[in-house]
Amino acid sequence: MRPLPPFPVTVVGSWPRPRWLLEATKKRAPDLDQLRDQATLLAIKLQEDAGVDVVSDGEQRRDNFYSFLTEKLDGMRLMSMADLLDHVEDKAAFETLLQALDVPAYAIKNPTVVGPLRRREPLAVREAEFLRAHTSRPVKVALPGPYLLSRSIWVQGLSAAAYPTRQALCADVVAILRQELQELAALGVEMVQFDEPVLSEVVFAGKAATRTFMCAALAAKADPADELELAVDLVNRVVAGVAGTITAVHVCRGNWSREESVLLQGDYAPLLPYLARMHVQQFVLEYATPRAGPEHLLAQLPRKTSVGFGAVNPRTEPVEDPAAIAARAGALADLLGPGRVFLNPDCGFGTFAERPVATEAVACRKLQILADAARRLRGAGRR
Ligand SMILES: [Zn+2]
Repeated sequence: MRPLPPFPVTVVGSWPRPRWLLEATKKRAPDLDQLRDQATLLAIKLQEDAGVDVVSDGEQRRDNFYSFLTEKLDGMRLMSMADLLDHVEDKAAFETLLQALDVPAYAIKNPTVVGPLRRREPLAVREAEFLRAHTSRPVKVALPGPYLLSRSIWVQGLSAAAYPTRQALCADVVAILRQELQELAALGVEMVQFDEPVLSEVVFAGKAATRTFMCAALAAKADPADELELAVDLVNRVVAGVAGTITAVHVCRGNWSREESVLLQGDYAPLLPYLARMHVQQFVLEYATPRAGPEHLLAQLPRKTSVGFGAVNPRTEPVEDPAAIAARAGALADLLGPGRVFLNPDCGFGTFAERPVATEAVACRKLQILADAARRLRGAGRR
């Protein structure tokens, strides 16, 4: 594993796709593979130029952070939220929910199970090899988390023939992610992050809310404690015994809209006892948005873990103040101890290909701010 500087600057994963890539993807252009390579090289270069220490491939080959599984696994079909409307139990309620949450029903796509899941090709290994070959810096690969998948890809009317219940699907989801993690670790990928945004829905959506659009499949709202126990169990089964890479879990409150009021709100307190029992080495959390509450709660995390401190908001245009970020990250390091704070944005800059929350220019500026804050901390001899 390549050495990291103090307060390593990294990303959550996605980068806004160039217009020409989106158009080529839609048309399934014959040179799509080369265009995806070209867009990836650009995303790597822009991160490097901004001063990012641990770079990603910008997820340029993905439609979104979990829908891309349909290109890699047998037994899945890519469906837009609009397509799914015909299959959820309560169509009218789901439609109202999509509108209330400002979810573009045609732009956001869900990978839906329609048969037994089989790995046709690796989920991210080839992309990681390409990334490795085109940067000398440490690299990070994001994968959808097992709990997110257990919750989002099983839709009763479409999936029950292959897997009678959502729970029946879990063993295959764990096996697929575990194999991928082992191969990425063997390749020397420095960080592998599992995205679990739906965990926020479990605790922040409140009793009144039914569900977010990512949980189209779930008929009745299950008991939050049971859901969180399931999440801990699934993550631990995926990572058990795998060494050689920093494993991370990312939890945010949604990144599909620039309208902050439709995104979930609440501090990490109800989640922390469960996160603390996940056998991963880092928690990538959002703290730029005031919706996430105070960071002093993170003292509850095990001492051997680190925090990916979300310090810039990918959904806003005004840039944050690097001196203020450095002061906050320094205070967090005082609280947690040396070597435990990484700097990253709250979430990806282009989570959904057709609906990125940031432009390339804004994304570059935000990363430069993080690098500036890191320089200030390192200059002051902080670790
Ligand atoms: Zn996120």
